[in-house]
Amino acid sequence: QRALALTYVHGMRPAPVFSRVAFNLIPGVGEYFVFPALTTTGPCEIMVFEGVPGGPMDCWRDIKTPQDHLAKSLDILRTFLPWEAERCASVELTDANGILAGSFAPTVRKPVMTLPSGRLVFGLGDAVVTNDPITGQGSNNATKACAVYLEAILARGDQAFTAEWMQQTFERFWDYASAVVDWTNSMLLPPPPHLLHLLQAAGDAPALASAVANGFNHPPNFFPWWTDASACEAFIAAKSTRAAA
Ligand SMILES: Cc1cc2nc3c(=O)[nH]c(=O)nc-3n(C[C@H](O)[C@H](O)[C@H](O)COP(=O)(O)OP(=O)(O)OC[C@H]3O[C@@H](n4cnc5c(N)ncnc54)[C@H](O)[C@@H]3O)c2cc1C
Repeated sequence: QRALALTYVHGMRPAPVFSRVAFNLIPGVGEYFVFPALTTTGPCEIMVFEGVPGGPMDCWRDIKTPQDHLAKSLDILRTFLPWEAERCASVELTDANGILAGSFAPTVRKPVMTLPSGRLVFGLGDAVVTNDPITGQGSNNATKACAVYLEAILARGDQAFTAEWMQQTFERFWDYASAVVDWTNSMLLPPPPHLLHLLQAAGDAPALASAVANGFNHPPNFFPWWTDASACEAFIAAKSTRAAA
């Protein structure tokens, strides 16, 4: 649902006060976020472009060289996000491999596979659940699945690791991960009015802003208010009242 591109750069002006992700929504065009990271050449910033298919940010197919990729990245910022372009006056690619462009369909797979030998394989992480990167959940999901699987392995003791046990263990992870998938996919749709209201209200109510920010670490907390308009309005009212008090 997005034409994706990544550009790893050195030399970006840091975000003021403290290091953090910056997220920009450009209605009808896509999203741009940028965050501090560590790559093979040291600290860097990763620019992530999420272009709505067919829109002006779906523009990477004819880019042939890393320098052209960087130039296109800066071009997009100058056109749609001048405040982000200002941070990039002296950026350069971290290295010639610091770029990526493409797209894929978010996918959930069956977690258990049987090899030709008859042995079972139990999947984990990207191999079984891949989300659009818009919510940055790939590593979260993989590590949280590890915790669930580890606990189940230890609890299993001497009993065999059957296909049924694998399926049940995955289901336990899915109790968590289904919320990640639903929330991530919701971010790829045009935002409904209650979400626009939520984000606007969060600008004035720190408790609301914290609920949104901290939800990235535990997406089940977004429900029901992220998808249910009346629950969202009640949530906004409760958190805003507390802020006012
Ligand atoms: C450019 C980029 C940026 C990303 N940014 C973020 C981010 O900001 N936040 C976030 O949460 N996620 C991010 N992700 C997603 C995140 O990296 C993945 O979701 C996460 O690494 C998945 O972990 P995994 O263990 O399932 O798979 P992987 O990390 O891919 O690990 C699989 C490992 O298996 C090895 N392997 C493959 N085949 C074999 C084989 N036959 N034999 C032995 N070994 C094999 C591979 O070499 C690899 O080391 C990003 C991904 C990319 C590509």
